[in-house]
Amino acid sequence: MIKDRFGREIDILRISVTQQCNLNCPYCHWEGETGIGPVMSPAEIEIITRACAKVGIKKVKITGGEPLIRKDITDIIAKISHIPGIEDISMTTNGTMLKDKAQDLKKAGLKRINIGCDSYTSSILEKTADKIKPAVTAAKAAGLNTIKLNMVVLKNINSRDIQKMIEFSKKSGAILQLIELIETKDNKQFFNDHYYPLKDIEKELASKADKIETRSMHNRKKYYLNGAIVEIVSPNRREFCANCRTLRITSDGKIKPCLMRNDNHLDIVSGIRNKILDRELNSLILKGIEKREPYVR
Ligand code: SAM
Repeated sequence: MIKDRFGREIDILRISVTQQCNLNCPYCHWEGETGIGPVMSPAEIEIITRACAKVGIKKVKITGGEPLIRKDITDIIAKISHIPGIEDISMTTNGTMLKDKAQDLKKAGLKRINIGCDSYTSSILEKTADKIKPAVTAAKAAGLNTIKLNMVVLKNINSRDIQKMIEFSKKSGAILQLIELIETKDNKQFFNDHYYPLKDIEKELASKADKIETRSMHNRKKYYLNGAIVEIVSPNRREFCANCRTLRITSDGKIKPCLMRNDNHLDIVSGIRNKILDRELNSLILKGIEKREPYVR
């Protein structure tokens, strides 16, 4: 297991595979991407993942943009699922295209899925009916396990729907992940209008929970409530960064040591295109890990 300079073990690789999305939510952090270069090919993603597995990466999360927009997404999953050392592949998706793709993704080696349900454009309950339910049904039928519902909680948009989402997640056997909105340079007004701190919700969950667990990843709390499971993701807290285990790759092939920073990226895909040696690839990854530092301290 490799550690960064702050003693944080790094075992997760979060790979963005596209900057395109069919929803374009106005608050989206786009995984902190600024690049405009061409996206990585499945073969390039495989090479980077293989090199990361050699330094101790065990889990891969595929993200975007909307990953299911890529026509070669099952090829990407299939390629990385065969890499020795990679034990887990998951994806975060807005779910709109999952119905027809869940089976193929599972066959290709996808294990778990996060389905977004916080869209700005319509109320969360309409989304539950039109988009989330078929996506969850398809994910279950395909055997993806676990299924998480990602809900960025937004004041005056979906904050009043939390209880209903807890009920829905319980019925559907999915874990509800309540996420605190992150401010970016492009969503400042939206953040001021809709930021909803999760402290009070956490107190309420803690008072009702049958059991509470703390995950090593981001020190996240997991509340078990009469059949429902709710996880809290608070990226604005110190313990989130102190317990971050993730190295990121942008869709145009840069190592991204931190979601919140764009001044320390490291080009890796150009090296691959120029056929650098394995040991040079390895040293680029180690350099990327060395650049990691907690954003909130
Ligand atoms: N399109 C995919 C999806 O909807 O899951 C993948 C990309 S999206 C950037 C990944 C996750 O980031 C989603 O769960 C989304 O809700 C969350 N997200 C986007 N913008 C955010 C923000 N400003 N603060 C917190 N979470 C955010």
